[in-house]
Amino acid sequence: MDTQMLIGGAFEAGTETEEAIFNPRTGETVISIPEASFDQVERAVAAAEKAFETWSRTTPAERAGYLLKIADRIEAEADGFAALEALNCGKPINAARNDEIPAIVDCYRFFAGAVRCVPASAAGEYMEGHTSMIRRDPIGIVASIAPWNYPLMMMAWKLAPAIGGGNTVIFKPSEQTPLTALKLAKILAEELPEGVVNVILGRGESVGNALISHPKVNMISITGDVATGKKILQAASKTVKRTHLELGGKAPVIVFDDADVDAVVEGLKAFGYYNAGQDCTAACRIYAGAKIYDKLVADLSSAVSTIKYGLEDDTENEIGPLISTRQRDRVSSFVERALEQPHMEATAGGKVHGGNGFYYQPTVIAGALQSDEIVRREVFGPVVSVTRFSDVDEAVSWANDSDYGLASSVWTKDVSRAMQASARLRYGCTWVNTHFMLVNEMPHGGLKQSGYGKDMSHYALEDYTAVRHVMIAHG
Ligand code: NAD
Repeated sequence: MDTQMLIGGAFEAGTETEEAIFNPRTGETVISIPEASFDQVERAVAAAEKAFETWSRTTPAERAGYLLKIADRIEAEADGFAALEALNCGKPINAARNDEIPAIVDCYRFFAGAVRCVPASAAGEYMEGHTSMIRRDPIGIVASIAPWNYPLMMMAWKLAPAIGGGNTVIFKPSEQTPLTALKLAKILAEELPEGVVNVILGRGESVGNALISHPKVNMISITGDVATGKKILQAASKTVKRTHLELGGKAPVIVFDDADVDAVVEGLKAFGYYNAGQDCTAACRIYAGAKIYDKLVADLSSAVSTIKYGLEDDTENEIGPLISTRQRDRVSSFVERALEQPHMEATAGGKVHGGNGFYYQPTVIAGALQSDEIVRREVFGPVVSVTRFSDVDEAVSWANDSDYGLASSVWTKDVSRAMQASARLRYGCTWVNTHFMLVNEMPHGGLKQSGYGKDMSHYALEDYTAVRHVMIAHG
């Protein structure tokens, strides 16, 4: 198991406090890994600064070549990466191997193509006697900070457009899930010029804070909690750094009376509970039309009660445990507070699953009202609430009545109703008759307190590059 950080092309152990890494499926400690010192952060920034001199002047085709090699290497070691991600996050091996790794490989390949055809306004003589052209140049040194729910995928979403755009990076995984980042660091050291990507370890308040406050860091890219995003903004304001914030979510799901209830149930069973609901786009806040409500609650509750988890044979498991006891307790306390209210009931689950791992039962909370905490706050666990609405205006206004603005979905057989509701939703993404589906060609990112900046797609490449105007006066 790789435990050393990558700084300027060389591997070294952190010298500060050790962080225990758990297997969420058993609760056992896998290994303890020390975090970086401030001196090591400093050297990582210096390495990125030095590498920028040459990396920023490589051609898009050269950088595409590097991205393709990284993709090939991850693909060649897919089983190893999947096993490590499953160990560190508790993900079912099939989800890690068959869903996540191919999407990660595709992300590097997508950006390898995208960096070679960056769009811009046409060069031309917009002022007489002068020719103008647009350049898209790198921002500089990027500090990339990732969460624990999809460690290797978040690394791909951040690294591929950043280095593809000609930037150099200091990457910090979540202190809880560094294992796949450390494995990838080995590949990056072999494939990339020294210092283009540096991987350092540590907690947010120590190493993360040192990175975001560093005067030589030009851009901060973070996926994490809203509270963390606000701290990033404060730190960034001191030296006016560019920021790219992918923060939380509380995705509304509007189910109209004419929706195909079987398809909705199948969809919600998958998209509300995938990754044990530790997903900022999870279909967790259901608004059901008055006529479909009872059947939806009954069928969804039966379906959710069949979700397989915690089985000895992991290939049978559909979802895993939560990442930590802390996260499980947090989820549990949300449900306890909800069930203290007499108008709500758990029609499936509602309890911590016994045993050693950090499991929580897949749960449906019926009878939730718009004002309830379970409807308003991000739970980040396998818990879905269902609220009854009376008309489209109420459904759309409740869906929009949220601090978050990342993802949403609308379920109906009526195309014009779907389009009208989609147009009114204030979310970075709206799916119709599905949820959760991502493709590397299309952007992912939020509105409101879910943050701003896009991952995936050519829009991410725009975020990681600066538009520059060069004007030439004719002699
Ligand atoms: P978190 O905010 O606690 O941590 C995320 C990362 O930020 C970690 O690497 C952490 O060490 C670092 N960090 C924390 N405090 C910091 C500070 N003061 N300075 C610098 N770095 C700091 O989030 P988490 O608990 O790891 O992840 C779960 C959260 O991430 C959820 O709220 C979820 O919604 C959000 N999320 C959002 C998206 C999205 O695309 N919008 C995707 C995945 C997760």
